[in-house]
Order: sequence, then C-alpha cells, then structure tokens
Amino acid sequence: MKDPECDFSSIPEFPRRIAAQVERDLVRISSTVTSVHESVDGTVKMLIKLQDGHEVETVIIDHTSRRDDESTDEDDGKHANGRLTLCVSSQIGCRMACKFCATGTLGLSGNLMAGEIVEQLWHASQVRKGISNIVFMGMGEPLENYDNVIAAIRAFSDVYRFHIAPSCITVSTVGVTSNIYKLMEDCPSVHLALSLHAPNQAIREQIVPTAKSWHMDELMRAVDYYNTNQKYKGKKQGRIMIEYVVIRDLNDSEECAHELGQLLQARKCMVNLIPFNPFDGNSFREPSQDVLDKMLTIVSSYGVITIKRKHHGRDIAGACGQLAKISKDIEDMDGTCGVNIEPSNLSIIQTPPSVNPLFLLTPIPLYLALVLVHRFTR
Ligand code: SAH
Repeated sequence: MKDPECDFSSIPEFPRRIAAQVERDLVRISSTVTSVHESVDGTVKMLIKLQDGHEVETVIIDHTSRRDDESTDEDDGKHANGRLTLCVSSQIGCRMACKFCATGTLGLSGNLMAGEIVEQLWHASQVRKGISNIVFMGMGEPLENYDNVIAAIRAFSDVYRFHIAPSCITVSTVGVTSNIYKLMEDCPSVHLALSLHAPNQAIREQIVPTAKSWHMDELMRAVDYYNTNQKYKGKKQGRIMIEYVVIRDLNDSEECAHELGQLLQARKCMVNLIPFNPFDGNSFREPSQDVLDKMLTIVSSYGVITIKRKHHGRDIAGACGQLAKISKDIEDMDGTCGVNIEPSNLSIIQTPPSVNPLFLLTPIPLYLALVLVHRFTR
C-alpha cells in the first residue's frame, strides 16, 4: 500500500523463488473502475467491473463539510461531520427481493469474493483520501455472503492494511438471524444495522419477503442478545441501528409509529427513518415531510433515539439500497441509484480505461488469497 509500484522481489518478506511467477501469473488487483461520478453534495459513486464482467457500485458519502441538520450515520442525531463513509457491495444483485429496493429486482448473480469487497475500498481511496467508516449497505445481503464479508472486515481493520477500527464498520442485514449471532462472535466490535421497515410481522411480510423465514420474534431475540452481549466498549455498546424505509400509506401511519415505539422502547437502538426513494417500475410512494415528522415525534416519545433523512441525495443507505440499474444509468447520466443526483449535478471526474496497478494487500498470505482469484468461478 505504501509503495504500490514496488517490485515483489524488493519486499523482504516475499519469497524470492515465487516472486517472478507471481508477477507473471497473477494480478495485483482484479477489478477495474469503469466510471466515477460526483454529486454536488459530495457523494461519489463508482462503478466497478469485476474480473468476470459483472458490475457493482460503491458509494462514498462525504460528511466532512456537511452542515445540514440531519445525521446520516449511527450517531445520536448529531452532525456526522468529519466522516468519510464508504458504502460497499457484498453481492452482485440480491436475492432478498425487498419490494421497495431496486437492487432486489435484479436477483442474485453471485457473491463477491473477499478481495473484491476490499478492492472497493482501495479504488475509493484513490478518489478520496481518508475514508474513515465502512457500511455494508450496498448491493446484496452481507450476512448471506458471510465468510467473504468477515474476511473483508478483517482486511479493512488490519493495522497493516487499511486500519479502520471495527467500531467504524457497520454491517446492515435484512435479518439473517443465525449469522447475526455468528457475527458477534467473529467480529465483536463491528456495529449492526437491522433493516426492519415495519412494526409488526404482518406489515413486514408485505414488503420484506424473507420476513417469513426470519420472524419478528426471532429478530427481536437477536436484538436483545446483541443489546446485552455485544463486546464493543463505548457509549454505543450493544446499540443497533434500526432502518425503517417509510412508504406512503403502507407503514407510515401514526399507529405504526406507536407500535414501533412500543416494540423498541425497552431496547437499545436508534431508529433511522428513511423516506422511500422511488424508482422506475415501482409503485410505492414517498411519505410527506409532515408524516415523517409526526412519526419521528411519536417514536421519540417512547424514549427511542430517532433520526430521519431529509435528502435522498445525501443519504447513504438510500443510495445503497437503490444500486441496481447502474451501468446503463451512468451511461445515460440520469442514473440516480438511490441518490437523487440530477444529470446537471453530475460531473464525471474520472473515467480511467482500466485501473490495474497497485498492491492491495501487503501481507503475503492475504495477498495470495486475493490474487488467486479464479476466473468465472462464481
Ligand atoms: N441487505 C442488507 C443491505 C442492503 S442495504 C439490508 O437489507 O440491510 C438496504 C438498505 O437500503 C435498507 O435498509 C434501506 O435503508 C435502503 N433502501 C433500499 N431501498 C430503498 C429505497 N427505495 N428507498 C430508500 N432506502 C432504500
């Protein structure tokens, strides 16, 4: 990482007898950046082509100079200034098929390998230095690609590589409960976000098909377990972010807000009310600001920390949930991918023909694991 151009044979720990072969047969980085677009609000989305031709997006959310009155991260509703957050994809598409999510319309084409997840950070750090936080809120269900996600988290947090504290990494899940417990064992300081989206089982089943597999009671048991057993030491210890995409006339009633408040009042969590972000082919509608405000007031009245996102375009999770029609949209320059970026607000800041140069991972075993990627093995 320090000297990406350096020769393998100049790395003291690198076995000399394989240096030439590694140089000849393996690549230093397996994916390429197809395009990079920046919104006026500082959000940067990058389209990344994997070695087998599939494409995923990764999104950088720049909180460093933000002065609006919303929080987009799991703080207590205070400014998230100073953070540069990367929203990474963990799968190509998604098979969870949440009815409000554009990625869900794609189905699943495959899992990303650990190296491909890590490479998103590497590519992003060529565009913005100092990425401080990672959220697994891009394409895919991270807890369905468990081993690769864990390996990527380890690479992100390794002091010899990216050195991002596990407490600055958030894994968002639709509720793969068995792996929530596992995650707590394997990465005890990583934060968890749960995409709940409803205050009860009946409404959840209408919009989250997998709710039938992971029942509300089961989810709340996992939340309770996390509340009491998460190992991160700090004021956010054991606190889960509850994501709630608010959809007009579906889950935005005052009754829903009361029910949500009651469900969560004895639990350690922070509710993030996310106005539904419309996309072509979907008939759900976004809620009015008044309704959002009312929901926020009601849920907060139960003593539950609650925040809302005002602008879709400045909203990392909304952005990530919408990563679907990516390459076509970007070519057309009208792709919102969940970030409401008007064509006039977009500027192509970089479109390299290919990015294939650098050492991604310094420790040799991990490096080998990364580069020993087999073509078309998904
Ligand atoms: N599969 C994981 C990670 C994907 S990110 C999960 O379900 O948590 C999923 C998040 O994207 C949702 O929680 C929501 O915050 C956001 N999202 C998806 N579709 C959206 C939409 N149409 N409008 C706003 N937010 C959306």
